[in-house]
Amino acid sequence: MIERNFDDYFKQIQDVAAKKSGTSFTIENEFVPVMVNGSCEIVLRLLPQPKSEAAPFIENRSHSFQGTDGKWHVVDCLRKAGHKCPICDWNSAVYDAFPKEEAKKIAKKKAKRSFVSNVLVIKNPADPNTEGKVYRFKYGIQIMQKILEKMTDREDPDKGFIKGMNVFDYYKGANLIYKARQTNFGPNPEDSYFGDQKPISDKNNVPLTDAEIQAIDDQLYPLKPCEKDTSNETWEDVLKTYEKFREGEKLFDENKEPIIPGIAKGNRAATNESVRSELDEADVPETSAEVSDEFFDTLK
Ligand SMILES: [Zn+2]
Repeated sequence: MIERNFDDYFKQIQDVAAKKSGTSFTIENEFVPVMVNGSCEIVLRLLPQPKSEAAPFIENRSHSFQGTDGKWHVVDCLRKAGHKCPICDWNSAVYDAFPKEEAKKIAKKKAKRSFVSNVLVIKNPADPNTEGKVYRFKYGIQIMQKILEKMTDREDPDKGFIKGMNVFDYYKGANLIYKARQTNFGPNPEDSYFGDQKPISDKNNVPLTDAEIQAIDDQLYPLKPCEKDTSNETWEDVLKTYEKFREGEKLFDENKEPIIPGIAKGNRAATNESVRSELDEADVPETSAEVSDEFFDTLK
């Protein structure tokens, strides 16, 4: 049986490799779903990490914003590596200073999180050539949330206690039924779901043999080259890049105090407590440590 140990995963996330900043993370051999009449339904199997890596996915995080040149730009969010990020810091200050609804309008875009894993395409009627092949697959936080749910023990009103499972496992994992609708912001995969726990199989539901699984394991793509390394990037670097494309706008003063329109300097906590208590935690940018911890726990 081919198994993977997850023990090093958390350490791996913290150690974000000492590669050079700006390493390209173009994804080669990527599986891109074909949309038919604006939607798709594909059966995929998420696969374990290649032998040399510690986690079955990598993550990239970035803030996108419109520059004064009218174009959209991107800066890396440094929170993934557990560092302070100027855009997240500024947003936190806005949420501290204003009631939620108002803060939402003022805050910059939250960091967008994207992940890459290996997948086996099991059933894909719109593009049958891809069936039975291994690809890299990029997905967003919606799919990651479904992975987390599936991996966590839970109480079902109908079925009772359901033990969390490692969806990436060849034998005890589950297929991802990837359903997406095309929208103006790209494909929306919210209707995707995981099937029941079962060994990896072909499109006719015939379980693969150990030799076939070994052949898939030998084809796994390294994921690390798809990860943007931000370890050499500083808080100041990110802020500088942001301010370069937003001429005339300054997010922080020389003492690194946030500059927020409508809020006098040094008077950020002016909002009354009763309004602040209504702040929905979910809307405050989360720290990566919390998410990683939670995820790590599900793997034990
Ligand atoms: Zn950030």
